[in-house]
Amino acid sequence: DVLLSDGVEFGSLLLSQPVLEGLSSAGFQRPSPIQLKAIPLGRCGLDLIVQAKSGTGKTCVFATIALDSLIPENATTQVLVLAPTREIAVQIHSVIMAIGSAIEGLECHVFIGGTPVSQDKVRLKKCQIAVGSPGRIKQLIELGFLHTTSIRLFVLDEADKLLEEGSFQDQINWIFSSLPVNKQMLALSATYPESLARHLAHYMREPTFVRLNPTDPGLIGLKQYYKLVHSHALPHKVFEEKVQNLLELFSKVPFNQALVFSNLHSRAQQLADILSSKGLPSVCISGGLSQEQRLDAMSKLKQYQCRVLISTDLTSRGIDAEKVNLVINLDVPHDWETYMHRIGRAGRFGTHGLAVTYCCHGEEENKMMAIAQKCSLNLAVLPEPIPAGLI
Ligand code: ADP
Ligand code: MG
Repeated sequence: DVLLSDGVEFGSLLLSQPVLEGLSSAGFQRPSPIQLKAIPLGRCGLDLIVQAKSGTGKTCVFATIALDSLIPENATTQVLVLAPTREIAVQIHSVIMAIGSAIEGLECHVFIGGTPVSQDKVRLKKCQIAVGSPGRIKQLIELGFLHTTSIRLFVLDEADKLLEEGSFQDQINWIFSSLPVNKQMLALSATYPESLARHLAHYMREPTFVRLNPTDPGLIGLKQYYKLVHSHALPHKVFEEKVQNLLELFSKVPFNQALVFSNLHSRAQQLADILSSKGLPSVCISGGLSQEQRLDAMSKLKQYQCRVLISTDLTSRGIDAEKVNLVINLDVPHDWETYMHRIGRAGRFGTHGLAVTYCCHGEEENKMMAIAQKCSLNLAVLPEPIPAGLI
C-alpha cells in the first residue's frame, strides 16, 4: 500500500492505550505519511496547518490528536471541530467515535442546522467533543447552550472552504472570539491558497506548517482522462452528447460506484432520471434538498443501494465513500481547487480509480488545459474504443 509508512506503527507515536486500541479496532494499523508527520507535532500542543491531498487521512490526524488530549473524566466541552457541510460533520463524528471506541463514556456529538435546537441543548449537557457547522455552533454559543470556557482544541476541517470569500468567515470570527485565548488550533486543507494563509494568520500564532512534498502519492492510483465533445449552439445538445458518451463509458468500464458532477443543478436531476431509467440506480444530491434528503442520498451510496450519485459541488469535498472508483465531470469545474476535490473522491487512500472529464471544443477545453497545467496533471485523452481494463 503506497500510502502507508513502511515499518512505523501507531504504537511508536506515544499515544494513550485507549487511542491505540481504538485505531486498531477502526482498522488503522499503520499511520499514513501525513499522520506520521502531524500527529506527534499536534500532541506537542503546536498550532498546525496540515495540508495534504484528499484521501490522505487528515480526519484521523485531528481525531487522534483530539482523543489523545481529552480528559475523559471531565464532562465539559473540550474540543470544537468545525466543518463546512453537514455531511462532513456527520462523517467526522463517526471517525471520532470509531477511534474513541475504547474511551469509556466518550461524548461526541454533531450539531448542524435542520435539527431541533432543543435536542442539541440536551446533548450539550455532557458533550466533550462538539462537531458542527459554523452557523449552528455560533447559535448554540449565543444561546448559552454550548459553553466554551473549557475548550482547549479548536479544529477547522476543510479550512480553505470554511474561510473562503463569502462563506463562513463572519461566523468563524465570532466563534473564535468566544473561545479561550489559550488553546491549540488545527487547520486542515487539501489546498493552500494565499487567502487561507492570510486568514489563518489572524487566528494562529506561529503555526507549524505540515505538508507532504508535492510528489506525495495521494492520487497515485487515479487515472485521469478527458474527452472532447462538439460544442453546439444549443446547451441541451451539448448535454445530450455528453450523456451519450457517459452511457457508453458506463457500459464499457466495470466500476463499483460512480460520482458524477454537473455544474448545473437542473442537469443533475435530469441525469439521475435518465440513468435510473437505463437500469443504473442513481440519486441526485444538491443544496436545494432538505437536510434529511441529503443524508438519505449519502447513506444510499454508502450502503450500496445506488450505483451513481449525481451532484453539484456540494459533495465534492470531504465525503469519503470507499467504493467509489469512478468520478465523472460532466462539465469542467470552474476552478482547479474544485477539480482536485472532485477527483479526490475516487482513488481514496491510494486505491485504484478513474476520473473522466467531458469538455466541449473551445472555451471549456481551454479551461481544462489551464487546470491541467496549473496542477501538473497526468491527463490524457480517453482512449477509443474504451478498453474494459481502464480501472
Ligand atoms: P482526507 O480528509 O485527507 O481527504 P480521510 O480522512 O477522509 O482523508 O481518509 C480517507 C480514507 O483513508 C478513509 O477511508 C480512511 O478510513 C482511510 N484511512 C485514513 N488513515 C488510514 C490509515 N492509517 N490506515 C488505513 N486507512 C486509513
Ligand atoms: Mg477530510
